[in-house]
Amino acid sequence: MPTLKNPSSPADGYRGRFAPSPTGPLHAGSLVAALGSWLDARTNQGKWLLRIEDVDTPRCISGADQEIMRQLLACGLSWDEEATWQSKHQDRYQKALERLNALHCLYSCTCSRQMIANTLEAQGIIALRNQEVIYPRTCRPQQPQAFEGLTQTLPDAAWRLALPADLVIEFEDRVLGTQSQNLNLEVGDFVLRRKDGLFTYQLAVVVDDATQGITHVVRGQDLLSNTARQIFLQNLLGYQRPQYLHLPLVLDEHGEKLSKQTLATAIHTQDEKHALNELRKAALHLGLRNLPDGQEITIAEWLLAATQAWNDNLLFLKATK
Ligand code: GLU
Ligand code: ZN
Repeated sequence: MPTLKNPSSPADGYRGRFAPSPTGPLHAGSLVAALGSWLDARTNQGKWLLRIEDVDTPRCISGADQEIMRQLLACGLSWDEEATWQSKHQDRYQKALERLNALHCLYSCTCSRQMIANTLEAQGIIALRNQEVIYPRTCRPQQPQAFEGLTQTLPDAAWRLALPADLVIEFEDRVLGTQSQNLNLEVGDFVLRRKDGLFTYQLAVVVDDATQGITHVVRGQDLLSNTARQIFLQNLLGYQRPQYLHLPLVLDEHGEKLSKQTLATAIHTQDEKHALNELRKAALHLGLRNLPDGQEITIAEWLLAATQAWNDNLLFLKATK
């Protein structure tokens, strides 16, 4: 694999981000991602940006963005620069789509979910729940061409990326080490713009990370399986690859994994004491140990101690992964 320039050199300036979807208030799981990315940015004297990922409008809850911002601030996790909303950047995603179109790697797809499931079933492939559905390429032309008039929405058609054969993407995760994914076998020709005209997370995240000059992506391990396709899009669009760190969810002090139930409940941040308590739980999940546990400490003091412990913690996570 070609060695890539290390974007963390001080001259480049570290730029990280937290990119919550406003589908509800912050919960324990999203706080882990927020805290981990914040600590990593602060340890590296970097910038930490807040981007509200509201492209999937039907899933967004009105007011959730404001609530998330309030919760972050209550936890002392302040962001640099102005927060941004993906819903305000449709033109960026459309431009990126048009560039991909010019590279002859898009095709329109009118299949419904049911049609895809039927085709796969006829091929003897039963998709398991929560498993990636590999699109059977029903609508894929032999040789995708640039599509004239992509700007006009083709009614009821999604736009998919035509993956080249034998596409294996390799990347380094700062904690998990070398990762690799065969995109054809594990992902398939994925959608960039949906039938309803909405751009997908995969396209929007890549365009925004590049536009905002993000050098370091620090997020939960639940997103690890998305990274290879995002890197492939970066390659096609000629964007720089950020460094990746997917935060492992460490077991709690009782050696238990956070249940879905616990993870999905909104965190309590009504006062400093509650907010600090939530931060402490998030820190344990990130593997941070031996942080000051007194009741008298302020959030700012506690965050400083956590920032100082972060690099050693990463080494520890790497060694024990
Ligand atoms: N918006 C995504 C989520 O909330 C996270 C995107 C990312 O960090 O890349 O799951
Ligand atoms: Zn189709």
